[in-house]
Amino acid sequence: MTETLLINFLILLLPVLIYLIFLENKTTFYNTKFLILLGAITTILCMSYPIRLELGFTFDLRYFPFIIASLYGGYKLGFPLILVVIGYRIIVGGNGTIQSILLSILFFILVPLLHKKFVKLSSTKKVWCAAMVAGGIIIFYLSTLTMYYETLNREFWIISINSLSIYVICIVFIMILVEKIYHNMKKREELIQLEQMNIINDLSASVSHEIRNPLTVTSGFLQLLNKSTSLTSEEKWYIDLSLRELNRAEKIVSDFLAFGKPQSVNMVSSNLEEETIYVKNIITPYANLHEVSLEFNFSNTLFKKLDRNQFQQCLLNLYKNGIEAMKDLGGTLRVDVLSKRNNIIIKISDTGIGMTQEEISRLGKPYYSTKAEGTGLGMLMVYNTINKLNAKIDVESEKGVGTTFTLTIPAQV
Ligand code: ADP
Ligand code: MG
Repeated sequence: MTETLLINFLILLLPVLIYLIFLENKTTFYNTKFLILLGAITTILCMSYPIRLELGFTFDLRYFPFIIASLYGGYKLGFPLILVVIGYRIIVGGNGTIQSILLSILFFILVPLLHKKFVKLSSTKKVWCAAMVAGGIIIFYLSTLTMYYETLNREFWIISINSLSIYVICIVFIMILVEKIYHNMKKREELIQLEQMNIINDLSASVSHEIRNPLTVTSGFLQLLNKSTSLTSEEKWYIDLSLRELNRAEKIVSDFLAFGKPQSVNMVSSNLEEETIYVKNIITPYANLHEVSLEFNFSNTLFKKLDRNQFQQCLLNLYKNGIEAMKDLGGTLRVDVLSKRNNIIIKISDTGIGMTQEEISRLGKPYYSTKAEGTGLGMLMVYNTINKLNAKIDVESEKGVGTTFTLTIPAQV
């Protein structure tokens, strides 16, 4: 028994190891096809090397890849793996094929139902949830076996307890590994992002200031020159053009300044009402232009100390993205500002094109943009501001349905 058990352990560790070595450094952790392939191979290996208990009873861990895939990925990931289970079972044939297939179909209907709840759980709870699912599956399987036993003798109970504990211990172990890998990856991504932000912060503050002064001086002298009466109309046109371009450069520089350290002159303690109203007024014409309706609800009573300009810019970027996501579709941008315990919560929902998990994971990377004229700096600035406020940002999105950004800002005490 120990031997077959160890082999199965090795089989289950294999995909984890391969994932760690080959996939971990990829920018996205949702490499679906490769994961399904790994899961399929693991399933087949598990079924080829069943665990033999001393009493002559054999069972295997075939549902493990399926359980983990369906919990993390829902029906989409669960489906190919249950097909593998069923397909391989048909190839092997023998007694009980039909029952086994029916059982598989039942599990396929039930387990992925938990997916939506599961992904929201904390790491520890995820491990327990998977353990309960695996335990449930083996208990169900064992109870179908009772049909073959006339009396539930000691032998049956020994088999049950053994297989149940093997199932649960194995899945707990694998799940802890999976969660740990996931956690480490996230931590590393965060670190990289923080590092990038720090660089941009430092650069933007110094460079923007240095560039702004010469820009102002040049633009001033050009304006003076423009007043001269001896200029031909063509020369005047050149100067106008230069002034316009200088203006544009100045705007970009001030946008970049928004990345810099919060400026003490802008610091206010606010319940965010003034800021939200201000941004709402700015964004309304833009929303009308794209036939997007706006819905605002304000019920916050808590206060926070922040750089007013930066915070307004941050909201503006989020609203703009929401509206742009509904560009040709029309829809509603809904903003709720409320207090919850000691946090100010800002929810910004659109009914636009939405994003895939992969797109979400790329948000806030410098220059990541899917728009023809996008800069990919908007979300970077948002994350930057949120970080400075010690706040948290959560993104929920579904392709074709819409996106909700939730900012959780700890209020000042
Ligand atoms: P830009 O708006 O210039 O493209 P951002 O940093 O503001 O840059 O956004 C980066 C990308 O994130 C966008 O190009 C878009 O693909 C995606 N995105 C951001 N917000 C949303 C949203 N509310 N709905 C759908 N996609 C979004
Ligand atoms: Mg944007």
